[in-house]
Amino acid sequence: MDKVLTRNVGVDNSQTIDVYRSRGGYEALRKACRMEPAAIIDEVKASGLRGRGGAGFPCGVKWSFMPKQPSADRPHYLVCNADESEPGTFKDRLIMEEDPHLLIEGCMISARAIQASIAFIYIRGEYVHAARVLERAVAEARAGGFVGRDVLGSGWSCEMIVHRGAGAYICGEETALMDSLEGGRGNPRLKPPFPAQYGVYGMPTTVNNVETLACVPLILERGSDWFKSIGPNERNTGPKLYCMSGHIKRPGVYEAPMGVELSQLIDQYCGGMLHSDRKLKACIPGGSSVPVLTAEECEGLKMDFDSIAERGSMLGSAAVMIMDESTDMVLVMERISHFYAHESCGQCTPCREGTGWIEKILRRMRSGGGRKEDLDLLESVSGHMMGTTICPLADAAAMPCQSFVKKFRHEFEHYVHHGRSVLVAS
Ligand code: SF4
Repeated sequence: MDKVLTRNVGVDNSQTIDVYRSRGGYEALRKACRMEPAAIIDEVKASGLRGRGGAGFPCGVKWSFMPKQPSADRPHYLVCNADESEPGTFKDRLIMEEDPHLLIEGCMISARAIQASIAFIYIRGEYVHAARVLERAVAEARAGGFVGRDVLGSGWSCEMIVHRGAGAYICGEETALMDSLEGGRGNPRLKPPFPAQYGVYGMPTTVNNVETLACVPLILERGSDWFKSIGPNERNTGPKLYCMSGHIKRPGVYEAPMGVELSQLIDQYCGGMLHSDRKLKACIPGGSSVPVLTAEECEGLKMDFDSIAERGSMLGSAAVMIMDESTDMVLVMERISHFYAHESCGQCTPCREGTGWIEKILRRMRSGGGRKEDLDLLESVSGHMMGTTICPLADAAAMPCQSFVKKFRHEFEHYVHHGRSVLVAS
């Protein structure tokens, strides 16, 4: 498949509006400005585009939850979620740093579809370079008439604001992101009300991920049938960016058709396993918050939403972490648990206490003080965290714990009985 999402990556001065326009950029926005908002929504619905941030919710359907018309006292807002904090995920950064106008064009078309008057790009604080590139690009787009008052003479106006977060994982959750955008502490809100009814500053708001929005100009440019023709079926469509890391020769972001086989990603895109004499042991297919898959479960695995769900995990943010047979699975789980314990906002008791307990149990186990009841305790604590909290962070901490203990139980038991990893000789 020819590169489409990353077609401008690596081109000299790809961040400038001149280069972007010379390669066909902003023609899709011109087309969108001549279309009725409902027609844009219909085209995106027909493409089957599903959210690339983690949940995989159909993008056009999400847009259709917005009220039909904005009013003077109920303006509509679009928020681009550029927080990208799921461990192992770095695809949105590539788009923002290398092809910022693709994102800006996607934001503007999407803002037109939901009749938004402001498009916010909420970017994580650590992405200093990406934020600067974006700010420069937004200024260029405004000067060119693609952002701001009377966009391309259409009579529709939409401002764009790049807002930097302070660097908290939880601000990638859409309601925490909105609190942070409003100047408060990034605490998730109870839903309902949902953002389409009560979002930023209490106004109807849609939140979309960077890669999702970057797909939108391609859909308008080439049509929903073209987008649908990529991928294994109508529920899993379009080009996809995969963040490959771990025990592989060439880690990085790779564009491939939705549903590409994992073995193809490893062998053809990434040059194979880092050590060719070591076998695959496990893979986390969608960021650290999704259940781990064993080597057997990875056999013939297609990397799309539904195929991964059938194996009991999730495509998530497509952060694919490859682990070979030299990996200490208890150490990996301890590291993951430390992250979630650190990032819990503390509002809900099961999450605030549970994430800390999981981390403490695993740290004790790893330092040789494991007890025989620890495995049941890990399962019990994580079980009580699932589905009992305001936002999904508790589930994100519990799901990997449950899957690691279930699928690599003998490694945890070895720590309990021998005080050391199964990989370390006595
Ligand atoms: Fe905060 Fe955790 Fe509750 Fe989410 S689940 S609101 S991160 S305490």
